[in-house]
Formats: sequence, structure tokens, C-alpha cells
Amino acid sequence: MRKIALIVPKGSKYGKNEYLKSFLERNNVVSSFYGAWETPNLSLLTIAGIIPDSYEISFIDEDHGMEIPFNEYFDIVALTGMTQQIYRAYEICEEFKKKGSYVVIGGIHATIMAEEALKYADTVFIGEGESTWKKFLKDFEEGTPCKKYICREYIDLSKSPVPRYEILDKNLYSSYSIQTTRGCPRTCNYCTLPIMYGSTYRHKSVKQIVEEIKAVQRFDPDPFIFFADDNMFIQKEHSKELVKEIEKLGIVWGTQTDISVAEDQELLELLYKSGCHWLFIGFENVSKDGLNFLDDKKWKATQLNNYERSIEKIHQSGIHIWGSFMFGGDSDTSSVFSDTLDFTLRNGIYSGSFTILTPLPGTQLFNQMSEAKRIIDYDWSRYTFWDVVFKPVNISSDELAKGVAWVYNQFYSKDNVSDRTAKLKNRLRQAKVKAEK
Ligand code: SF4
Repeated sequence: MRKIALIVPKGSKYGKNEYLKSFLERNNVVSSFYGAWETPNLSLLTIAGIIPDSYEISFIDEDHGMEIPFNEYFDIVALTGMTQQIYRAYEICEEFKKKGSYVVIGGIHATIMAEEALKYADTVFIGEGESTWKKFLKDFEEGTPCKKYICREYIDLSKSPVPRYEILDKNLYSSYSIQTTRGCPRTCNYCTLPIMYGSTYRHKSVKQIVEEIKAVQRFDPDPFIFFADDNMFIQKEHSKELVKEIEKLGIVWGTQTDISVAEDQELLELLYKSGCHWLFIGFENVSKDGLNFLDDKKWKATQLNNYERSIEKIHQSGIHIWGSFMFGGDSDTSSVFSDTLDFTLRNGIYSGSFTILTPLPGTQLFNQMSEAKRIIDYDWSRYTFWDVVFKPVNISSDELAKGVAWVYNQFYSKDNVSDRTAKLKNRLRQAKVKAEK
């Protein structure tokens, strides 16, 4: 039987921002608030769904503490990785190549930087892997694998297999991701997702998604499910149909969406009833200029005046918000940190992600900054969203690195956390009463 290893390389969770590192080491913020993100890698589990039973599959998640068995022989070693994980992925490629394994790599960074990835891997997958993996396995078995497998079209999601959760180590995870849609019609200049998945919104059928949830439940009867869509509720009628079915399955879940979810009261009520606990929403900035900088088409900027009212509506539905904010845009000055903190506290946002603007390769932002010679660091291991890799305009790099740490310190201070927790409990009580009426 042929052996195949699917490997998730270790990433740098906290980046190299010394100010932030000391905060995170003192506090348990990452594990207490961010646990829901600790899901196994969905791309590799999906690829596992394509691999025939004639292969013995090992899923090795170095990012969640598993040791890589470098002394074991695998016919194929397959890796994926985000930009900040990519050097570790390349080291693993080299180790296994020395041992005679055939090494392949895919994912967002390899898609954008295919020539770089080919220096380390035998084959690189460009774009979505579902269709190209079948062709690769056939070629591999015939002894004629290609250097590149390119998916030129965005795949039909009805052909995406059920991810194989059963190959996971049961003790490693309590949250699992499922993807119900791909693509996002927004045009944020820092985002790689439209490059990988396109701007046309595609969704799996409700039946397919129910099957995937049941597959997770067979593996773990009491899972937290993170719907790892780029932007889950773009087609609201499909979302409602789906959420009604999710309610029957008795799960607890969260997902990523833009703020437009608040426009649909019926959807919010269905979300609450179906076990949706939180929504991760990228607010990014609390000033119009800040939002204008992040998107030429300015969709988020047009939503700014609705932010507070929309947050209130989501909260009244009994769902809490995980707000995401990004510092370092060209209009940001040193007041961006206190302005953002005030906004989050004033609006009772329960969890917060605060990051530094990062021009990931392939994005419009990267191209602009690279042309303007503003990128000061091409060390991919610093592309963590917590390190400064470009020259900011109205603020120094040090202020930016220090500012994000200051916001974390304030937002996750004991007093602020207990205040938010009390408000959250109150909101949940009210939502329960309302739902039972
Ligand atoms: S809304 Fe989110 S997923 Fe869509 S382009 Fe912007 S950042 Fe990316």
C-alpha cells in the first residue's frame, strides 16, 4: 500500500512583535479567546477526501504540536501553508526530498509564489486542488507527474468531497471547520481570498453541508463548528434555508461574515435559534479615510455609518461579535489605537482581533507598496499580521508595533473583560426570553 503524509507546518502564532509577545506571554488571551480557531487544516482534509483507499494517509499537524516523523518513508508528502508558515514548509519539503519521497505543495502562498515553491517541492498546485489532485494521482501512479497542476477555473463546489475528519487525532481538537461557500464579491485590497477563490460567490448544497456536519459529529459528538467561509451570508435566502437545517443538528457554531448580515432580522433570529454563538466581522477601521484606503470600491466605507446600529441589532439577537481591526493604513495616525479601543468598548464587542496591515504577496496592496518601495521586509515569516513589514505614512513602525500591543492590553484587561462578560450574559438572558415568547 502506498503511503501519503499530509503535513501542516508549524506557524508563528504571535509573530516577532516584542511588545505583543510580552503581553501574550503574560496573559492567556490566545487560548481562552482564540480556542475556536484551533481547527485542523481543512484544505488537507478535503484533499484526503479525494485520495483513494489504496493509500495509507497520515495527517501530521505540526502546528498543533505533532512531531513530524522524518525517519518514516512516505511515497508522497503533501504540504500547505500560509505565507508566515512557508519557510517551515520548505524545510520539511527538503528533508523528505532527501529521503526520496515525492513532495508536493499547495495553498495560497504556493499559488501566488509558484516558482519560489518549486525550488523546494517536486510539484506545486496552483489554485483549488479538488480537480487537479485527481489528475496528479493518476500521473504519479503512471510515473509522469507534472511540475505544476493549475486549476484555471473555480471549481463547482458540488464536486468537492466530504473532508475526512476520521483521519485526525481525536485528542488534538475541539473545533472543526467546514466550508459552505467560496468567493467574496468585496474588493478589500489586502485580502488574498478573492485571488484564491474568486469574486463570484459559490455555495455547496444544503444537503452536502448537512452531510459534512454529520461527518464531524460522527468523529466528535459535541463539536464546535467554525464555518470557514470567506463571507458566509452573501446570498441571504440560501443562508436561511441552510441555517434552518443546521438548527435540526443541534450544534454550536461561529463564522465569518461582513456587517450586511445585520440588515436581515429574520436571518439573525434564525442564526440564534440554530446555535450560532458568534460572528467574526472585519470592521477593520473606525474612520472613513481608513476604510477608503483599504478598498478602492469603498464598500466597507459605505457601511461605517451603520456600524453601531448593526452591532446593536446583532447583539439584540443574542449573538456576540468577534470584531477584527487592522492598523497601519496610510491615513492612520497615533490616535487610531485609542479611537478603535473606544469603539470596541462603547459597542460592547466581546472578542477582538487587532492586527497590523500586512501586504501579503499577490494582493493589490502588496503590488502598490512594492512599486512604491515601501516594503521593508521580505522575510515571509514576519507576515503574521502582528509584525510591521512596510513603511507606514503617518506613524512610525515602532509606534505601530507598540500600538497594537497597547490595544490588546487594554481590551483584554481584567476590568474590561469582566465588564464585557457581564453585558454578554445580560444580552444572552434577554435573547433567551425573547426567543421563548
Ligand atoms: S470582505 Fe473579507 S473576504 Fe471579502 S474581500 Fe474583504 S476581507 Fe476578503
